[in-house]
Amino acid sequence: MTAPVLEVRDLKVYYHTARGPVKAVDGVSFTLAPKTRLGLVGESGSGKSTMALALMRMIKPPGRIDGGQILLDGQDLVQLSQDEMRRVRLNQIAMVPQGAMNSLNPVTRIRQQIVDGLRAHDIKMTKREMDKRVAEVLSWVDLHPSVGDMYPHELSGGMKQRVCIAIAISLRPKVIIADEPTSALDVVVQRQVMETIGRVQEELGAAVILIGHDMGLMVQFVDRLAVMYGGKIAEQGHMRDIFREPLHPYTRLLIQSLPKLEDKGELKGIPGIAPSLLNAPPGCLFHVRCPEALPVCKTVTPPPQELRPARLVACHLYDAAPVVAGAVAAPVAGKEQAA
Ligand code: SF4
Repeated sequence: MTAPVLEVRDLKVYYHTARGPVKAVDGVSFTLAPKTRLGLVGESGSGKSTMALALMRMIKPPGRIDGGQILLDGQDLVQLSQDEMRRVRLNQIAMVPQGAMNSLNPVTRIRQQIVDGLRAHDIKMTKREMDKRVAEVLSWVDLHPSVGDMYPHELSGGMKQRVCIAIAISLRPKVIIADEPTSALDVVVQRQVMETIGRVQEELGAAVILIGHDMGLMVQFVDRLAVMYGGKIAEQGHMRDIFREPLHPYTRLLIQSLPKLEDKGELKGIPGIAPSLLNAPPGCLFHVRCPEALPVCKTVTPPPQELRPARLVACHLYDAAPVVAGAVAAPVAGKEQAA
């Protein structure tokens, strides 16, 4: 089996407020194989964007990493100094941030913004080499070298997003984190941007973590999926397996909420709202919204269980399920449904 390029073990990221800790990421573990695509999907407040910032070691106070490991090629990023981490960012792990289009400096030409990114990482190049590299990274994202002479306001939304991707991949990182990379774009441009990310990933031989709430986008783009809820992973496995047979009730509702032609414009949402992560009580945080909740769900946090190889589900419905390769036992029968 290929060693993972990234392995996250029992990661905890808490925001320490006057009213208590907000457990934005609480005991998350997953692995990312080289050259593969992992989706982190969930509603707002599920912890997925905090997860992205933690992987880049960009959590700001009052937040901090309170436990766990982030192993990038075996090196624990949690233990690195800020200076060591600065060298790892962009070089080995890079992020296309949420709202990336607004992260460009409006008064600086695109070429200079790419060069500034390279220089910030102590890359020593002559002007001619820099110009060549800028043209090269722009071509990776299907932009003409002349875009380097332009200001952000002269570009369309899709072009600005491509520039942000170009900056993120300018040092050929092994892992690219794309946090809602298409959220402000129309459907056609969304598709083009995702195709660009996919092509660049294959050309660089990088692995991608796509973060978002759009299950439809995940189905089209990723190989593996981790569904986040309340700062934890509810279910993870191969995308096609989860889509064909979602095991966690929250995943089932997420998939059912995808628009279908026969719905004739009616959109189905998931009833209720995401839980507060401030002083979160024990038990499954989904229990107040879960149509299949059991009495035990109110008091005992369900641990992740490997129901099939590489398929983990954190749900009491499977508490008595034997670990059988290729088969998942039916949910435990006879348990009284929660009132
Ligand atoms: Fe629903 Fe209970 Fe499973 Fe949580 S643990 S998803 S409340 S059945």
